[in-house]
Amino acid sequence: MEDLSYYIYISGIVQGVGFRPFVYKLATNAGLKGWVCNSAKGIEIEVTGSKHILDIFVEIIKKSPPSLSSIDSIIVNKIPLNYYPSFSIRESIDKDTDFLPISPDVSICPDCKRELFDPTDRRFRYPFINCTNCGPRFSITRKIPYDRPNTTMDQFELCPECLNEYQNPADRRFHAQPVACNKCGPHIWFEENGSISAENESALLLARSYIKYGKIIALKGLGGFHLVCDATNRDAVQRLRSKKQRTDKAFALMASSERIITEFCELTENSRLLINSPQAPIMLLPVTNRGKDLQKYIAPGQKRLGFMLPYTPLHCLLLEPEPGYPSILVMTSANISEEPIAYRNDEARTKLINLADAFLMHDRPIHMRIDDSVFTENSKSIYPVRRARGFAPNPIRLHNEILPILGSGSLLKNTFCLTRDQYAFVSHHIGDLENHETLQAYREAINHYENLFRIKPIAIAGDMHPDYLARQYAVNRSEEENIPYFDVQHHHAHIAACLAENKYAKNDPVIGLSFDGTGYGTDGKIWGGEILIVNYTGFDRRYYLAEMPLPGGDTTIQKPYRLAYAYLKANQIDLDERFSLFSKITPKEMLVINKQLESHFNTQFTSSMGRLFDVVASLLGIRHEINYEAQAAIELETIADDNENGFYPFFFSDSTIQIKELLSSIVLDVLAQVTPGKISAKFHNSIVQIAMEACKKIRSDRGIKTVALSGGVWQNIYLFDRMIVALEKEGFIPIFHHQLPPNDACLSLGQVVIAAEQMKIQGKE
Ligand code: ZN
Ligand code: ZN
Ligand code: FE
Repeated sequence: MEDLSYYIYISGIVQGVGFRPFVYKLATNAGLKGWVCNSAKGIEIEVTGSKHILDIFVEIIKKSPPSLSSIDSIIVNKIPLNYYPSFSIRESIDKDTDFLPISPDVSICPDCKRELFDPTDRRFRYPFINCTNCGPRFSITRKIPYDRPNTTMDQFELCPECLNEYQNPADRRFHAQPVACNKCGPHIWFEENGSISAENESALLLARSYIKYGKIIALKGLGGFHLVCDATNRDAVQRLRSKKQRTDKAFALMASSERIITEFCELTENSRLLINSPQAPIMLLPVTNRGKDLQKYIAPGQKRLGFMLPYTPLHCLLLEPEPGYPSILVMTSANISEEPIAYRNDEARTKLINLADAFLMHDRPIHMRIDDSVFTENSKSIYPVRRARGFAPNPIRLHNEILPILGSGSLLKNTFCLTRDQYAFVSHHIGDLENHETLQAYREAINHYENLFRIKPIAIAGDMHPDYLARQYAVNRSEEENIPYFDVQHHHAHIAACLAENKYAKNDPVIGLSFDGTGYGTDGKIWGGEILIVNYTGFDRRYYLAEMPLPGGDTTIQKPYRLAYAYLKANQIDLDERFSLFSKITPKEMLVINKQLESHFNTQFTSSMGRLFDVVASLLGIRHEINYEAQAAIELETIADDNENGFYPFFFSDSTIQIKELLSSIVLDVLAQVTPGKISAKFHNSIVQIAMEACKKIRSDRGIKTVALSGGVWQNIYLFDRMIVALEKEGFIPIFHHQLPPNDACLSLGQVVIAAEQMKIQGKE
């Protein structure tokens, strides 16, 4: 048979995942000649052999590529015949207009884990063991192409043995950029009161004994520092809470094995797969009866616990089972108040000094800090509530190509988004853009993504809220760079994000159920209970919750009892001392609120869905003051009685959804001593009924059947599951988030797709 030559170009996540050695082995085993190389836009292969063998070669690449890779496209072209003496791996090619997705950080693989605990292996107990299939990627990458000199591993010179492995295409560590061993690589040490008291194995032992005896360790991890203590030691956890000033908010846990997790929580097949995956996120899992003791002080008022498994070799060593040593550790991001996670050694030393008793440090620098991802599961999907390590910077693939645009994102749970080709690079979780440090981290991350993916935005989009720092950044930059800026309404962005991540290609309108706490409206009021008719171009605010007063603004949001009082006053519903909120509210507060309601001084008006949940939580006496976002709503969901199907009356007047009847019926139920669990369930069911009625009205007016769900309220699983059942029963087609969080972390994607549509309309495309 005659020989042929093929040129093959593969795009997607194909670097740093063992693709070249895979191709090398495949080609040499098949007796094919040619070369493979990384270029800045993917993998390029030139290969010569018989047609039959070449076609099998291409089939195998398509059907069983390396497990960490994700192929977007394979282009195969026949080219003029080229003879090569052998098959080789060539130097990387880089053209500066090309770009390539970069692999997220990958949790330790089974082979490395085996070697870590194998006394005969030369990396026995080495805390930085890794290979082509695992280890740090995004967090250590300074620029592309992804080669060792472009990572923070550049300062460690490979020893002869490591170099051998690195250069041998048959080795599992061939071109594994972070490859290292205890002779040539990074190492750990234990630091207390500013001095190093142990190194390597003895540092590990010391850290373990500190944890065992109830101390708090600041542990340098993969994407930043964690604060670590024995999760089964209530006093240690309480001490961590008081040091971090974190009264009730849940802590993430790391368990030594899946078996330990199943002692406390239920694992579905999907959550089991995800928690064991190379992404290894924190999974929010329903607690079993046995888990309740732990849940009471780790995640008070909730019915889930956040668990992850060790994802670095250092974690594996720190959680190595031993009689009398804890098998569950609290592992929470190390930061002061709302600042970003600490990630540099010097920064940790100064900022964490009052939080931790000692430090377990290492000298592999983190270039881009990144938090742990958090996932949860409802009846329809397993989705992130925080998307970071293991997932970012993987792009979301859109249904078509898009101009390079920056979406500057939200205030809370900020992410930004940069687009190019058919990709939307939604950043990892940045945090709440409310302080200088987070803003600094935000700017640095935007810069980094623009360099890494070679994106120069030609337009910028932001949220309409004039006070948001992300908007100010966006507006300033658009002025400095003389590129257009687009203001995007918060709830429009929510629904557009949901459509875009579902590759909704049409511009036909859908019904958008955009339910959240706070979003700036086109009328300058605070929106949040919004039923919209939406496409990428625009939206019609079809129905919304009746506007209620928010006297005292943001401080009132921390105090649901004040809100409850104001909502009832505004609806002329009388309350008496039988309501526990009266044990909270002082006569002076009542006086002030009454005045504010009359004069509207320092009082905003809001159609927020989140605030309505807060009010109901306070009326039921569940939660009068909150110390973390959405606490009242979470606790209200926790108590909802699954067997209750009743709901409260409500009615629509024009576009307004009146809630007076709903509130007065709840008040009557409280007075009749109906259980809080039943009232909570009836309230949740009422929201489903309200949304259903609105959807049916819109369908009969406009014939729209597709319903998109976005906004933080949809993280309420009780509400989401019942909403979906109701929609499907009535023949609607629900679409919802599964790649991005439904909360404000998705806004940046919505902003860019809406801005792209505006660019098209203005003929700038
Ligand atoms: Zn490995
Ligand atoms: Zn070495
Ligand atoms: Fe929102």
